[in-house]
This record gives sequence, C-alpha cells and structure tokens, in this order.
Amino acid sequence: MADNGVEKVVIIGSGPAGWTAAIYAARANLNPVVYADEPRREGAFNVVPGGQLMFTTDVENYPGFPEGVLGPEMMNRFEAQAVRFGTRVVTRMIGRVDFSRRPFRLWDSEDEEIRAHAVIVATGATANWLGLPNEQRLAQSGGGVSACAVCDGALPIFRNKELGVVGGGDSAIEEATYLTKFASKVYLIHRRDQLRASKVMQQRAFKNGKIEFLWNKRVVDVLGEEKIIGVRLKDTKTGQESEKSLGGLFLAIGHTPNTKFLEGQLELDAKGYVVLEDPYRSTTSVEGVFAAGDVADSVYRQAVTAAGMGCKAAIDAERWLAEQGIE
Ligand code: FAD
Ligand code: NAP
Repeated sequence: MADNGVEKVVIIGSGPAGWTAAIYAARANLNPVVYADEPRREGAFNVVPGGQLMFTTDVENYPGFPEGVLGPEMMNRFEAQAVRFGTRVVTRMIGRVDFSRRPFRLWDSEDEEIRAHAVIVATGATANWLGLPNEQRLAQSGGGVSACAVCDGALPIFRNKELGVVGGGDSAIEEATYLTKFASKVYLIHRRDQLRASKVMQQRAFKNGKIEFLWNKRVVDVLGEEKIIGVRLKDTKTGQESEKSLGGLFLAIGHTPNTKFLEGQLELDAKGYVVLEDPYRSTTSVEGVFAAGDVADSVYRQAVTAAGMGCKAAIDAERWLAEQGIE
C-alpha cells in the first residue's frame, strides 16, 4: 500500500485478465490487491472468483498445457502465481466506484471504502444462458452443454454427434459453422424465423449442408442425466412441444459485460463494454483507470487474449503511476 492508506493499484476481477495483471503489477512492486468477487453472490448468475473458466472442464487451447488443463485448476494456478509475488486477495465484489477525482474511491460488498491511485477493471463478461436448471447442471458437470463452441467444440464428447446451437446472431452462425468440422450434423435452434446475423454469415450457413435450421423453436428443457441426450422444444408460433435428440448443446445468445457498477463512471459502449481509448492499449475514458479482458473485448473472448490484455493493463498502470511519481 502507498502512503495515507491509498492503494497503488486495485484490480477488480479474478479471471485470466485480473490474475495476469496482478502477476505483472506484483513483480513491478506495485503491491496490488485483487477484489476477486464473492463465492456466492446473491442474484448473480455465473459470476464467481476465478471467472468464466470455473464453469468449464478441459481447456485445450491455452498454450503451455499440451495435455489440456481443467478450467478451475488453471485459475488456481494463475492465482497461486499472483500470490507468490505478493498479490493480496479480497473475496469481495466492488459494488460502486467514484472515478470523478483522484485518488479513486471504491466500495466493496461490505461497503468498506478503498482508495486507489490506479484501477484495473477486469470484471469479464458473462455468457448469457437460458437459465434452465438442467442446462446449468449439465454445463457445470461437463455433460455436453456449453456456451463456447470455440472453447469446447473440439472435445471428444462432441465428435461425430448431432449437436444443437441456440441463437440467431453472428455468434450462433459462427459457432454452428465451426462445429460442423467435428459434428455429424448441427441444428441451429432459433426462436424466430429470421436470423439476426449479417447476410454474409447467413449465406455461409445456408450453403453448409451439415447445418439444419429449426425455426420458431425455444429450448424449454435439456434432457439427460450425466450427459445430454436431447432437448425439449416449444414452437413459438403454435405452442406445440417436441423432443429432439442431441449429443451436445451450445448456447450462443449473447454476452453481458459485468459493468453495471461502472455506469456513469467510465465510457461504455451501447452493449456495456468498456470503451478503450486506443484498441492497442488498456487506457479508458478516465486517466488512471485501465481495462483488460472480456469486459473490454466483445470480439475475441478467449483466456489467452484476456491474459494478454491483463499484462498490457499492468504495464500501462505501472508506467502511468511512474509518471505521477508513484513507484
Ligand atoms: P472472467 O473470466 O469473466 O473473470 C472476471 C471475474 O471478475 C469473475 O471472477 C467475476 O466474478 C469477477 N467480477 C465481476 N464483477 C465484479 C465486481 N464488481 N467486483 C469484483 N469481481 C467482479 N476461453 C479459452 O481460451 N479456452 C477455453 O477452453 C474456454 N472455455 C470456456 C468455457 C466456458 C463455459 C466459458 C463460459 C468460457 C470459456 N472461455 C474459454 C472463455 C474464457 O473463459 C474467457 O475469455 C476468459 O475467462 C475471460 O477472462 P476475464 O479475466 O476477462 O474475465
Ligand atoms: P446477438 O447479435 O445479440 O444475437 C443473439 C441471438 O440470440 C439473437 O438471435 C437472439 O434472438 C438470440 N437470443 C437472445 N436471447 C435469447 C433467449 N433467451 N432465448 C433464445 N434466443 C435468444 O449476439 P451475438 O450473436 O453474440 O453477436 C454479438 C455481436 O458480435 C454482434 O454485433 C455481432 O455482429 C458480433 N459478432 C460478429 C461476428 C463476425 O462478424 N464474425 C461473430 C460473432 C459476433 P433474436 O434474434 O430473436 O433477438
């Protein structure tokens, strides 16, 4: 901590971006503190310390793990590395902030005030889910339900299976197209009879012989005990229910950045993502506040890109603090 009880740098969020920022900030002697969120935050769906990878099984595309690594194990390793260099961890969320003057002020979930010279926002974005109990159960147990085809699609459990993708936007088309590399067939399940996706993406999907569209259908239940065996669908026009056998289900119904507490404090885009001043840097609309990871990235949304952004944010914060004479 710097003089007068003011932290040099507070990192909000404990996913790949937050821990990587902490590793770099700690090694730069900034004595960072990470607000890691709460294990069971009331009213929050799918937001926990460790971030989104706490909800997945094998991570097979993070460099350095040729055999793959379990998401929670990987995040424990990130945390251990940050702590090894002196990062302090508080398992509370940040509920509100005042970035209007420096030092910045933040309040945690116990309403304790924290003052900081620099802040790194790494609160991630949450994949939207349908919110069905069986969907969540099978997603958390590796039972063949996922919100990330690029992450999980190549896993052996999905090979040569008939898979479902829910959604009608660019992500749904992209994920369905990607999954045709591994699946025997992909059903794109959309609640309307028109896609929201761009025309070029639509054409790509219509031309792909492995993609079949199930129009005007909502998934109302996910079937299967240990592994998904199918879904129950409801026709949005007729109300009629039916079942469809599936070997995997992917949700592609958008993401919500975790930025509600930043409204009015930082510039956010129409969807709530933190706007970076320069796409190659981590600087935001407020000098001294930096952002990293999915909270500022609606495009790539990968652990490795989030970690890279966390590294950039710590280096940017270190340089900015040095310019202020805080080292
Ligand atoms: P997150 O991981 O979302 O972490 C943000 C953290 O901030 C969370 O712990 C959250 O609880 C916390 N937080 C939020 N608000 C507050 C607050 N106000 N105060 C304190 N803390 C707060 N990517 C890959 O590269 N490979 C994969 O195999 C892969 N698999 C995935 C599987 C699933 C099911 C999902 C959903 C995603 C997957 N991803 C994968 C994507 C990857 O998880 C994300 O890109 C990555 O976790 C983003 O990191 P982040 O640090 O930006 O944010
Ligand atoms: P999106 O454009 O918001 O589309 C979300 C889709 O999910 C919509 O079709 C929506 O249906 C459906 N949906 C939302 N909630 C639902 C629910 N509860 N139940 C069932 N369906 C639901 O999100 P996105 O596809 O993730 O795209 C986000 C942004 O990234 C877009 O700007 C997109 O262009 C961009 N993107 C671009 C590319 C690319 O160019 N390669 C790839 C991916 C994403 P309705 O249509 O009925 O609302």
